[in-house]
Amino acid sequence: MSGRLPIPFVSQSDAASVAAWLQALRAAMPEEEILAFADLNEHQRAQCRLAIVANPDPVHLKQLPQLQWVHSVWAGVERLVADLGQSGLQITRLVDPRLAATMAEAVLAWTLYLHRDMPHYARQQQARQWQPLEYVLPEQRRVGILGLGALGQAAAGALRQARFPVMGWSRSARSVPGVQSYSGMDGLAQMLAQTDILVCLLPLTADTRGLLDATRLALLPPQAQLINFARGPIIDDAALRQVLDDGRVRHAVLDVFATEPLPPEAWPWSHPSVTVLPHCSAPTDSGTASAIVAANIRHYRQTGEIAANVDPGRGY
Ligand code: NAP
Repeated sequence: MSGRLPIPFVSQSDAASVAAWLQALRAAMPEEEILAFADLNEHQRAQCRLAIVANPDPVHLKQLPQLQWVHSVWAGVERLVADLGQSGLQITRLVDPRLAATMAEAVLAWTLYLHRDMPHYARQQQARQWQPLEYVLPEQRRVGILGLGALGQAAAGALRQARFPVMGWSRSARSVPGVQSYSGMDGLAQMLAQTDILVCLLPLTADTRGLLDATRLALLPPQAQLINFARGPIIDDAALRQVLDDGRVRHAVLDVFATEPLPPEAWPWSHPSVTVLPHCSAPTDSGTASAIVAANIRHYRQTGEIAANVDPGRGY
């Protein structure tokens, strides 16, 4: 648009992914000029105030000296907070009902996978073994969710509909209909002690890194199961391996890892009690995400208000 500076899309993703994002963002806000970071000229870099990002290279962001606002198209912003938290920049992360619905579907699918003993029956088939396990009602399988934010609350709703008793843990006390809510470290211990299937949907912050260590994993009832759809480093890797080796935790579904892609030599690939997923539980929908970014930018153009929703002090 004449008189307006172009908005860069800054990302370390591959060229095909950048091209797809540029197309979706341009379709959602035809009134704006959206350019790949590499296509900005010197003057545009010097003046740019707003950037749309997907895992940006911090070196590129430093080349935008007037930058005020960074809008991510991702929900998880731990790297942005680490790179920019002290800079005074306003940070917006993606909050998208479509993403929450996709995550809720994944949580329900993999909870049912554990609830109906699918890993066990897959092993029995390998051994040509015909041996039904005793059926457990969903009402008797208690699910604990770590994180009762946008994704945790959507997951809780899907699990409630499937008749699982649902508990949830958050930083501040939350009141979510039908969900037994806990907060604080005592609340965490209480919830873990009653959890048959633990679902992790926390952001990665200084407080949540290594949260599920040996001591906390030991609070789970014997034969509990675990799903991590948040970030790998929230669970202590060695402690997790130990409880799986011991059979104290029956099975873990892991979608996220400290290093992604998971290296070929990493232990989870071949552990009989682990299901490895390639960070696929809730992919961002570029269409709905771009519409949300567009609405926030239009609001900013009209009012000057920045829809920042990340508190660098809290880390999420
Ligand atoms: P959110 O709305 O910010 O919710 C975060 C929840 O975690 C809130 O309930 C928050 O408590 C709680 N929390 C944060 N720090 C805590 C602490 N120290 N102790 C206890 N509770 C704490 O985030 P979201 O949109 O639900 O997303 C959650 C995470 O999912 C993202 O950060 C991202 O890493 C991950 N994710 C993964 C995928 C995937 O494909 N695997 C896709 C999207 C997102 P309060 O309610 O008190 O604030």
